Amino acid sequence: MEAATGVECSPVHTSLCTEQADIAAREVAAGGCTICCGQEMRFFEELAEELDAEVPAFVDLRDRAGWTDDDKDTGPKMAALVAAATMPPASTKTVDVVSEGVCLIIGSGDVAFGAARRLADTHGVTVLQLDDSDPPPEREFDVIRGKTRKASGALGAFKVSFDHFSRVQPGGRGNWRWTEPRNGAHSECDIILDLSGQAPLFAAHEKREGYLRADPGSVTASMDAVFDAAKLIGTFEKPLYARVEPILCAHSRAGQVGCSRCLDACPTGAIAPEGDYVTVDPMACAGCGACSSLCPSGAISYDAPP
Ligand code: SF4
Ligand code: SF4
Repeated sequence: MEAATGVECSPVHTSLCTEQADIAAREVAAGGCTICCGQEMRFFEELAEELDAEVPAFVDLRDRAGWTDDDKDTGPKMAALVAAATMPPASTKTVDVVSEGVCLIIGSGDVAFGAARRLADTHGVTVLQLDDSDPPPEREFDVIRGKTRKASGALGAFKVSFDHFSRVQPGGRGNWRWTEPRNGAHSECDIILDLSGQAPLFAAHEKREGYLRADPGSVTASMDAVFDAAKLIGTFEKPLYARVEPILCAHSRAGQVGCSRCLDACPTGAIAPEGDYVTVDPMACAGCGACSSLCPSGAISYDAPP
């Protein structure tokens, strides 16, 4: 093993977490050790904590390479696992997502306006009002009406288009005047708080960062969603989960679709055709890994965690 990996190896121990714990403590305290056991990882982590020492690296040789009837050929796999464990972990690729707190609240009457009042001090709030009640007299937030035609994006970069769009015209109090309804209006926001009680705007909506949804009939759920929205201001790290190697992608050639496995499987609609290949919208990707597990050519791979 030492010859194959260049890693200095101890004799084989069989009970480092029990009778041989003193040996484990000595090595952990010395630092830089790798323990070839995954099952008792927690024990060794606590031991390192007690000793105020660096947490050792782990590689599960027993379960991943040791327990087999074919005990003649386990050496190369064990050596490869040990060598891999000594490599520095690949850093997770991320992109910064900035949310300035521009929030679209969708809902009716008191529920939507109540949520808007709670967020208006810290967020730039627009209420998409679904009922015909009079908007409240205060001007802390905008009120619009319309029918959502399409929504895309995620936290920090939602795009929403509306039909029959109108907004309250600025003016005096009461006798609300609305602009003439028009189709195809567009809006952008950082957060969507959906208190409509209607169908969600996104497939697999619970995986869409920045899209918060609650049953308007539940005060508790609506309040929780408001609190969650209140926290979504700032700069957040978004892991880049899926990566596409276009040259390997067999999506389409000469106008004929050859493969759409990842497109069909993606729960969030993050994958889209682009000519002969597909692309992934990293903001919409929830990191489930379904695409890479189904891709026949390896064109789409899962990058995080590495
Ligand atoms: S990992 Fe793949 S399938 Fe899953 S959400 Fe991201 S792009 Fe879609
Ligand atoms: S599953 Fe793979 S080969 Fe098929 S379209 Fe997606 S990335 Fe391309």
